[in-house]
Amino acid sequence: MYKIKINGIVQGVGFRPFIYKLAIEQNLKGFVLNSTSGVKIEAVGDKSSLDKFIKRIKKELPAAADIKEFKVDELPDKLYDNFKIKRSAISDGSTLISPDLAVCEKCQQEFNDPKDQRFKYAFINCTNCGPRYSIIEHTPYDRPVTSMKEFEMCDYCKKEYSDPLNRRFHAQPVACPDCGPHLKFLDKDLSLISGDPIAHTIKAIKEGKIVGIKGIGGFHIACDATNFEAVKHLRKRKNRPDKPFAVMACEDKIHEIVKVTKNQKALLKSPKAPILILPRNDSIDLYKTDNSSGDSPIAPNVAPQNPNLGVFLPYAPHHFQIVNSKLPFVIMTSGNNQNEPIATEPEILQDLCDYFLEHNRAILNRSDDSIILPTQKHNILIRRSRGFVPSPCNLPFKTKSTLGCGAELKLTFSLSNKTKLFLSPYIGNTGSKETMDFYQETFTKYKKWFKIEPELIACDLQPDFMSTKFAESLNLPLVKVQHHHAHVSAIMAEHQIDEKVIGVAYDGTGLGTDNTIWGGEIFIGDHGKFDRIFHLNYMPLPGGDAAIKHPIRIAYAYLKKSGLSTEYLKGISKFEKRIIDKQIQNNFNIFQTSSMGRLFDCVSAMLGLFPTITFEAQSAMALEYLCENEQVLDCEPYSYDITNEIIDIQPCIKEITSDVQRGVESKTISKKFHKTIIDLTVNSVEKARKRSGLKKVVLSGGVMQNRILLNGLIKKLSRNNFTVYAPENLSPNDSSISVGQVMIANRKIEQKRD
Ligand code: ZN
Ligand code: ZN
Ligand code: FE
Repeated sequence: MYKIKINGIVQGVGFRPFIYKLAIEQNLKGFVLNSTSGVKIEAVGDKSSLDKFIKRIKKELPAAADIKEFKVDELPDKLYDNFKIKRSAISDGSTLISPDLAVCEKCQQEFNDPKDQRFKYAFINCTNCGPRYSIIEHTPYDRPVTSMKEFEMCDYCKKEYSDPLNRRFHAQPVACPDCGPHLKFLDKDLSLISGDPIAHTIKAIKEGKIVGIKGIGGFHIACDATNFEAVKHLRKRKNRPDKPFAVMACEDKIHEIVKVTKNQKALLKSPKAPILILPRNDSIDLYKTDNSSGDSPIAPNVAPQNPNLGVFLPYAPHHFQIVNSKLPFVIMTSGNNQNEPIATEPEILQDLCDYFLEHNRAILNRSDDSIILPTQKHNILIRRSRGFVPSPCNLPFKTKSTLGCGAELKLTFSLSNKTKLFLSPYIGNTGSKETMDFYQETFTKYKKWFKIEPELIACDLQPDFMSTKFAESLNLPLVKVQHHHAHVSAIMAEHQIDEKVIGVAYDGTGLGTDNTIWGGEIFIGDHGKFDRIFHLNYMPLPGGDAAIKHPIRIAYAYLKKSGLSTEYLKGISKFEKRIIDKQIQNNFNIFQTSSMGRLFDCVSAMLGLFPTITFEAQSAMALEYLCENEQVLDCEPYSYDITNEIIDIQPCIKEITSDVQRGVESKTISKKFHKTIIDLTVNSVEKARKRSGLKKVVLSGGVMQNRILLNGLIKKLSRNNFTVYAPENLSPNDSSISVGQVMIANRKIEQKRD
């Protein structure tokens, strides 16, 4: 007899029926069981059948399953009459929860078949698809502990649910129009409008209205992406002047708006169904803001002055009914008020929407859509949420039960135990009360589900972050972690690195150990400790965070500091200049920063791109887009100077000033600037290698979302025989800070003990 224990994502993915089928086919007796510590199998039969059984489990695994642990013990035979699927058992230990899965192809076929019981039924699902994470209350995953417990199965569904050979066998959310949840259409005041909710939704969107649509992880706010006026309205209501919106596109027409490769299409159609940021395939004028849409069906204000577009495909059954060849491009942006997390109730969105498409299956656990940024060589998961959470990450070494509290922007937390780390979904972008409520609520659930009671807490050095205050409130051993060390450590963890490396952290801002603001750092170190061996020279940041929203003020202060003319700067008032002059004179409210992100802001503003911004990284992105299709690596860089640990970029600022004054094309300046940053990085890293003998380079920090910079660095460093580790499954931005915090805190605690 074989006793088999399997762990990983093996619940809610059709694993037990899959095992049952194989066991029957191999003529085995025994049982398969879901327990809180994974799937257990006992199988009796002749040796060759048993071995074949094991082989086939690994080979024919269901699409959404993922095995992390597979243990086989040979024991004396027991007596069984047949092979059975046993009910879930509760015991100690923990198991994993499957992420939500996009509707599968088989269910889509039934959905489109007029003769099927679930024809056009918005809640069709099977063991290979449907909601999981979003509907679960407790583990082990079973219908009575999901939000489907409200719905009693009809005989038709029950029959499928109970038949081990049916593809809905023990599919916990199984339902049909006779017994399951339903859609309804509501007006602004949440009064029911009778008639077909889908027809109403389509009509409203076509008429330019804004409709809140309840989906899998929360509400979307939808409007016609080809309708300039509707998009304008949405921007006004959401108080979101420029930040790009994602577009849900029908598969057959997606080529009309973006360039998409075969692999990217497969990713869009995968169970994870992420948003992909893809190049638009129209020749847009980047700086045109009027409502003429050129040769794209997409209205120009969907992603203004942006050569890329975030796109995804329908992934919930009702999405397919709304977004299709008759209404192919619909904005589906996260349904939230400013500074609040994604909503699951229409009440919260009443000020934003004209109508609602609601349903009565509760969303117990929220998650936003995940976002992937493809680069030349690989994909970067810049927001890890629906479709990914709550699958764990593997760590390179054993940790204590640890909570990493994260930073502030792109807030997440991480909860680890031994080599498993559970990263929360994307929580939000501020420390607002609503965001922190969502944070604490999710934290409480994670502790319960994964049976982790933290004994060690890690947070950022920055005392003002809500996440830091939360960490302090827990009254447990606390380690405060430097922001950029955490950036590097997170990407090391992703690549299972537990040794000394050269770490590059190019970022917006984060508090340094010397009380200045860091962000252009090159370290030598490991998880336990780092030496800051190079950094950009300190430049003045007038008014701290206020300057971040006004890149022109950064440019003004940087030029003043470098003793250069500020006459040519566009978009700064005399009043602003006077204030900054005073601040510099009195050294009042001036922060010293080595931030790479701020340097990008400065150069962007010097070119007159965005004197003021309305969303994070807007100006830096504009600078990147200027040279998107250019051969950056071939051009001459600007000057800079590396002396001791300081990378002085003032010579570069000086040359850019003279280029702007001479009327050199912005595209050329941007190209040369990018080349400069690549060059100075490679040079510093070379020096670090000479000093240390290290060859592994880890790239991290929010600025690494700049693909010109990232691709250029990977290319040049690899050519120079470095092994380069870039962000891939963990984001380069602050959403993976919590991961690095966990790693570092554990090493620091060990060092203290030794
Ligand atoms: Zn399915
Ligand atoms: Zn039914
Ligand atoms: Fe950061």
